[in-house]
Formats: sequence, structure tokens, C-alpha cells
Amino acid sequence: MSQVQQPASTWKVKMSDAARGTINPLRNITDAKNKINPDKAVLNLSIGDPTTFGNLKTHAFVTKILSENANTYKHNGYPPSVGYESARAAVARFTSREKATITSADVVLASGASGALDLCITALLNPGDNLLIPLPAFSLYECICGSKGFDVKRYKLLAEKNWEADIAHMRSLIDDRTRAILVNNPSNPCGSVYSQEHLKEILAIAEEFKLPIIADEIYADMAFKGHTFYPLATLTETVPILAVGGLAKQFLVPGWRLGWILIHDRNNVFAEVKQGIMQLSQLILGPNSLTQSVLPEILANTPAEFFDGLMQTLEENSTFSLDKISKIKGLKPVVAQGAMYQMVEIDISAFNGITDDMDFMRKLLAEESVFVLPGSIFGLKNFFRIVFCAPIPMLETAYKRMDEFCQRHSIN
Ligand SMILES: *Cc1c(COP(=O)(O)O)cnc(C)c1O
Repeated sequence: MSQVQQPASTWKVKMSDAARGTINPLRNITDAKNKINPDKAVLNLSIGDPTTFGNLKTHAFVTKILSENANTYKHNGYPPSVGYESARAAVARFTSREKATITSADVVLASGASGALDLCITALLNPGDNLLIPLPAFSLYECICGSKGFDVKRYKLLAEKNWEADIAHMRSLIDDRTRAILVNNPSNPCGSVYSQEHLKEILAIAEEFKLPIIADEIYADMAFKGHTFYPLATLTETVPILAVGGLAKQFLVPGWRLGWILIHDRNNVFAEVKQGIMQLSQLILGPNSLTQSVLPEILANTPAEFFDGLMQTLEENSTFSLDKISKIKGLKPVVAQGAMYQMVEIDISAFNGITDDMDFMRKLLAEESVFVLPGSIFGLKNFFRIVFCAPIPMLETAYKRMDEFCQRHSIN
């Protein structure tokens, strides 16, 4: 039993362990006093937000529905914590595929895909348990786990195989505290889109160890020509999958904070976890009501040209980036197959006085005002990630400066 507290003479207000454990490695970059060349305008290829430059905009239909709905005064109250039935049904219709049908009862809406990931991970793990995540990976996975006392184990992705998972390595990491495998396809930071065969290899491991999968599919359908996105759930009838998606990237509205979980259960394996997700959704009483209200209209009726146009721009930018960066001495870009990212390998031995990817990023920023994200943020040294959403002329200037920078620091 706790004792009655005596008056205290000094203040001792401490940060909780949860807050202390919540560390997004991005902080190391943004908090650091990075030098910028004052004579050159900053070209920021580091932000994973497609709306940053204003060239990629959501369709006017989408904003029209939002403002119309605001004016009805019908969406100002609390929705159910898992989301409006009509909104969940709309997500179910939008995401259902042959062999992976979803009903509104299997959909939970969340505050962005970030909130959806938080719900999935928290519903599956206890402190001391571990989650298998990719290496390199989107930094939020580790951040969520760190805040709750969950461990992560990182399975290697292989640059030389277009970032396929090293299956043998994945298998070697599984222990008796492993509770799930997280798969991110298409990938941030890699821009990879997995083949059906590779996804089946991952599913086979999940099946063998009877581990559920959290599929981060926020870049669903964002595949370039010659590549196809396969929702993981369409490729298995036995592995239970929590598929995460949302509006942020496909609809170019990350600030609207609307994500979802599709609960692909198999023979009631997920009965408890589903209940857990519903209970956890009550912590924030669901995502923004107004954003939920647009789902039925925009998911069904946004003109197809919008999405086609977006993918065409992204693919052009990706091709342009690959072409320019491959000509820079000391840099080796890995082909992007989708999403909005490209990873570039730095041949450190080709440079004078550059020690690693962090150093490369800092010096590139200090001398050329070009901002890229070092691979260390994602767990992988001597790579950097670029976001190729910026307009081509801006990308062109950035790669020109990058080229000059690399020549200046080249060993010969
Ligand atoms: C952007 C992103 C998210 C988060 O999406 P929100 O809906 O904005 O929370 C999740 N996963 C990956 C891999 C992302 O790149």
C-alpha cells in the first residue's frame, strides 16, 4: 500500500519512461544545428511529404467534398471510436480485392497510418516482446516500440536484390518473444515494390512460425510501369494480416490524418486482437470526423486521371533522378520501382575527408544547401534517401550541386 506523502521542499517533476523511450531518430538530424550555405537556396529532398513543393496537389473534387461536408454541420460530433460505419464501408469497398474481401466490420479508422500502426503494434505486443521490422525501415516503427517497451529486431533488406528481404536472416531473428513480422511494401525509404514470389516467401516464414503480419501498405498501388502492387492479404488464405493504409500519400493529404486497418482474419485467429484494436481505438475516440466524412465520396468518385497523373509525375521524377545521380562519381542509386523514394549508396572510399553518410549529409547541406536524409536514420549506413517529389527544375539544380560537391570531394 502506498504511504501518505509528506510535503516536499523541492520540485522533482520527471519525464515518464514512455516519453523517454519515444525517440524518433529523425530528431538527431532536425535538432542538430546543421550549417547551411547562406548563398544558396535550400533544396530539401529529405521530407517525405508530397505536398511540400505545391506541385503535387490533391484533386479539386477531394477538397470540394470536404468543404461541402463541413457546411452540412452533420459531421461535428463524435463518430464511433472505430470510425463512421459509412466511412468504414467505403474503405472496405475501396480495398476489397478478389481473394481478400473486407467488410466494414473488419475496418478500423485511425489517425493516419501512423495511428493505425500504433494500434496494430500495441494490440499484438507486450513489453519485452519483439517485432520484426525491415532494415532499412521507416523510423516510426522503432519509435512506437520504444515508447512502449517493445523490442525490434531488424531483418536485412538486400540492395543488390532491389531491397528484397533476406529471408534466411529474417528466420534467424525469430525467437519465443517474437509476436509479428512487419512488412512495408511499397517501401519507404527504398522505393521498392515486391514481386508476388517474394511476398509468398515472406508469407511462408509467417506460416511456418505462425506469426501474424502487419503489412504497411500506405503506398498501395503506387507502383511504376512494369511493377505491380500485390496486397499481401490476397496471396494467402491462412496467414492473418493487419493491413495498414490511408489517404496521406495516394490522395496527397497527409495532414488530414486519416488511416485505416484492414483486419484480414483467418479462422478467428484474430478474434482477441480485433477486440484489442477496438478497445485501443477508444484512447483517442477515432480520427477527425470531417475527414472520415469524405471517404464514401472520394474513395468511389475521385477521377482516375488524378491518380494516373500523380503516378506519371512520380515515375518521370524517379527516372530523371536515377539518370542524373547515376552519372555522379561515387554515388550509386538503386532503381525505384514505386512510391516516392530513392536510396543512393555512397562509395565512401571515393571521397576525401567524408567519413560516413551523416558526414556526407552535413557537408552537402553546409556547402550546397541540398538536404538529403542519411541512411543511418533508417538503420543503414553509407546510403542516403532522396524524395523525388520536387518539380524537375528543382531536382535538376539539386543534382547539379550534388555532382559539383562530389567532384570537389573526390579523391582524384
Ligand atoms: C508516410 C508513411 C506512414 C504514415 O502515414 P500517415 O497516414 O501520414 O500517418 C506510414 N508508413 C510509411 C512507410 C510512410 O511512409
